[in-house]
Amino acid sequence: MRVGVLGAGQLGRMLALAGHPLGLGCRFLDHAPDACAGQVAPLTVGEFDAAGVAALAAECDVLTYDWENVPVEALRATAARHPVWPPLAALEVGQDRLTEKDCFRALDITTPTYRAVGSREELADATRAIGFPAVLKTRRLGYDGKGQRLLRDASELDAAWTALAGAPSILEGFVRFERELSLVAVRGRDGGFRAWPLTENRHRAGILHSSIAPYPDPALQARAEDQVRRLMERFGYLGVLAVEYFVSGGTLIANEFAPRVHNSGHWTIEGATTSQFENHLRAICGLPLGATAARGHAAMLNFIGRVPERARVLAVPGAHLHDYGKAPRPGRKVGHATVVGDDRGQVLARLAELEAVLG
Ligand code: AMP
Repeated sequence: MRVGVLGAGQLGRMLALAGHPLGLGCRFLDHAPDACAGQVAPLTVGEFDAAGVAALAAECDVLTYDWENVPVEALRATAARHPVWPPLAALEVGQDRLTEKDCFRALDITTPTYRAVGSREELADATRAIGFPAVLKTRRLGYDGKGQRLLRDASELDAAWTALAGAPSILEGFVRFERELSLVAVRGRDGGFRAWPLTENRHRAGILHSSIAPYPDPALQARAEDQVRRLMERFGYLGVLAVEYFVSGGTLIANEFAPRVHNSGHWTIEGATTSQFENHLRAICGLPLGATAARGHAAMLNFIGRVPERARVLAVPGAHLHDYGKAPRPGRKVGHATVVGDDRGQVLARLAELEAVLG
């Protein structure tokens, strides 16, 4: 089978690498000639428009995407006559922070308090309803902390509104969370649902810094699985989906979902029976899903801006290096390493060693 992937970044690259032993070949479409998945599988350089999507579909049995901001309109005509997974409805809802939070609310999934903001006046109204601190986020195209501003008091409204260039936004109550968790799950052709163990995530400057799994809390695991299962059922979903949570007062508060494989699931390559990449491919190709149990404990550290010296990373016991083959650039995710071990203490010690290598 051939899988067409819109977007040829590191997520696509890891999909292609996971598909190879299964005899599932990926082909990519991306507008960047140096997109890193192109180093491991055929890449067509072109725009994400209806013609580009149709041309990729003609060569492939199923289409998927590694980037959640692919224009839904470009996919619509092809999706009417060709399998595209995850479903466009999930992509469309997830592209807009307002519809995403409305969707959580409709499913009775707790989210931070939020208000739509379309003007400077509405921003002032929203802060009166939500209070301070609050977070102003553009509805579209925000990621890794981009397109968002923390508001501590009313004196910061003008600067924040100007910084986001008056883009349609939402204001969210600031959550004083104890920790951030994510649940990565997969749904297959027969409606089969499997979730990996909850992952604890640490962010720095809005970008994922490290993930540690499993996060052992059976009650939260069950609650998150129930929520993600219902979210997937709503869309008739096939493939992998991730929900990012805050935990506050022991309660799960859903921040956002990603209708794709997710950075907080990279540890599953070495740390779980089946990786998120392999199970995404299995799901969208109609194949049986693999088990999602953790094999011991794992921690993942993102390499932002540059990949540290290879030999020093590999000298850390239990370390596995993933260099995405991307040009170094400040703020860019260029690789990661996962350390595995038998117990949480050992993995945390190995993560500390990795962080020391990073400097
Ligand atoms: P996001 O782009 O929504 O994933 O936000 C990136 C990171 O900013 C999150 O992982 C949190 O660490 C922080 N953040 C976002 N929204 C909030 C919020 N409402 N309250 C507290 N922290 C937040």
